[in-house]
Amino acid sequence: TIVVTGATGHLGRLIIEALLRDGVTPSTIVAGGRSLDKIDDLVARGVTAARIDYADPASLDAALAGADTVVLVSGSEVGQRVAQHAAVIDAAVRAGVGHLIYTSAPKATTSPLVLAPEHKATEEAIAAAGIPATILRNGWYTENYTGQAEQLRATGRLVASVGDGRVASASRVDYADAAAAVAIGGAPHIGAVYELSGDVAWDFTQLAAAFTEVLGREVVYVPVSTEEHLAILTGAGLDEGTAGFVVALDGNTRDGLLAETSGDLARLIGRPTTPLVDGIRAAL
Ligand code: NDP
Repeated sequence: TIVVTGATGHLGRLIIEALLRDGVTPSTIVAGGRSLDKIDDLVARGVTAARIDYADPASLDAALAGADTVVLVSGSEVGQRVAQHAAVIDAAVRAGVGHLIYTSAPKATTSPLVLAPEHKATEEAIAAAGIPATILRNGWYTENYTGQAEQLRATGRLVASVGDGRVASASRVDYADAAAAVAIGGAPHIGAVYELSGDVAWDFTQLAAAFTEVLGREVVYVPVSTEEHLAILTGAGLDEGTAGFVVALDGNTRDGLLAETSGDLARLIGRPTTPLVDGIRAAL
């Protein structure tokens, strides 16, 4: 079987849908998560749902029993993920899993990206466990920017402290198709570390232009300094920690940490990645 963790979330669901589309027998797919009510429709299509709570090793042992392949979709509880991912890796070793696939972050082991440390620790735990694995270093999701669409529609101002930094984003569906391709492809991918990102590294003037096109109202990029950005965010009611995180990510973007275009993603999925405008339109 192929077990997918985080299957109750956005990326995991798309991975399951890609596996089904690409001909994997539904009953050999195990979709794991805590909020299983979110995947009733997948169960109706023949997929097996399994309660997976990273804090509950028994749930992992039950879900991974007999698994050939495990797709470990990185968790969403930042700060707790190293222990959570380690729990999955340990369970995979106990179950004798033949292929572990992990969704990491760009250049996770060497990047100063604020989100890299938990991914670096996870990659190291996978290596230390000695389990056959593939690392999918997922770049930025185009969907990371679509949550602000209503604000952009209202103000027409895309405020950011990224300077002229570029982002090679791709749509979640692109990353999901890659994870499914690697899960299905199996052995040739073992030992590989893929740097996945969109084919095009766009800048924020282009991001504003893409929103202008999709929203049908002019959106302009308003570059601000880190200090100005922090003041704007806290002034809008964000707590210091969250605002600091946002500007740190913008600093990382300015420094080009999300701009790499290796071509690995398009090669794995056998098609170009979803263009920015199309990704925004689909998400909205
Ligand atoms: P979602 O928040 O939609 O999904 C997260 C999934 O993780 C859910 O299925 C959730 O299950 C599961 N999960 C979280 N904590 C636990 C836990 N303690 N035990 C079991 N399951 C847990 O995220 P996305 O699908 O959008 O993204 C997938 C991952 O990619 C994120 O979790 C994050 O690590 C990373 N990410 C990457 C981004 C990028 O741009 N590359 C941007 C944002 C996130 P349930 O809800 O059932 O508890």
